[in-house]
Amino acid sequence: MAIPSGDRFSIGSVPFAVVNDGSHFYDAGAIFGVVPRVMWERQVRVLDDRYRMETGLNCLLLRSEGKTVLIESGVGGKPGDREPAGTPASEGTLMTSLDALGVAPEDIDIVVNTHLHSDHCGWNTSIAPGADPDDPDSLIPTFPNATYYIGRREWEDANHPNERTRATYLARNIDPIADRVELLDDETAITEEVRFLPTPGHTHGHGAVVVRSGQEWGVYVGDMVQHRSQLERTAWVSGLDILPLVSMETKKELVERCIEEEALVMFCHGPYPGIGRMTRTPEGYRKWVDVESEGVGLPHPHEA
Ligand SMILES: [Zn+2]
Repeated sequence: MAIPSGDRFSIGSVPFAVVNDGSHFYDAGAIFGVVPRVMWERQVRVLDDRYRMETGLNCLLLRSEGKTVLIESGVGGKPGDREPAGTPASEGTLMTSLDALGVAPEDIDIVVNTHLHSDHCGWNTSIAPGADPDDPDSLIPTFPNATYYIGRREWEDANHPNERTRATYLARNIDPIADRVELLDDETAITEEVRFLPTPGHTHGHGAVVVRSGQEWGVYVGDMVQHRSQLERTAWVSGLDILPLVSMETKKELVERCIEEEALVMFCHGPYPGIGRMTRTPEGYRKWVDVESEGVGLPHPHEA
């Protein structure tokens, strides 16, 4: 089955494409936390026989100031990165998605990771061609010319995992890039149009990525939510969040801004392509509305 990828959108004069690392199935109860199943079940279109829901792995590719920027890098393609064969989802397809747009790994100048859970930074690293996959020294940065932008607190937590986080903070995704990271403390301009915005909650060091051009802006929310209903309902906080009450406040503030200023909302785990706007219904409820693609394709990185 072909996995859709490359759908094109824009924010002001910044074109971007959603590049897909496929999708995977994840325990829906963990995603909805303390929300009773009778309530969340109405919101989820497809559940498999193990009560897992399909979650997208939408990454963004954009050009800003002549630089090619990749936001998020999916589950990856190294041994252990993908779910074992036999699960229904197909994942780890980011390199194919980039290749379809004519983008090679060496074309990527900047990688931004919202956080370092294993489904968001897997393609940060790869096995060197021809190397022994079991040899830890065989790992290399996938994007040889890239600087990796990550929150400093996130980097520190990922390098010192605890009992709860060690299954998802994996040395294989972070050690090989240690000498090419730019660690961010506060809201930071990565290019004139792309900013890192600390959004604590899912993790202490989680950051969203804001793209602003002309009068328009949009925000890639990373793992602030895993399902659109969590953007619509304040108290629906993910069971995966380390700081649930902080997460709720962070989300409330950002979603209100997105509604008032009609921002584009870009969403990692939504069904592909995961692009929409938050609106308010006449009754006063927050509502997610999908935004349609503006066409397929992105200028090749070497083109003006
Ligand atoms: Zn995630």
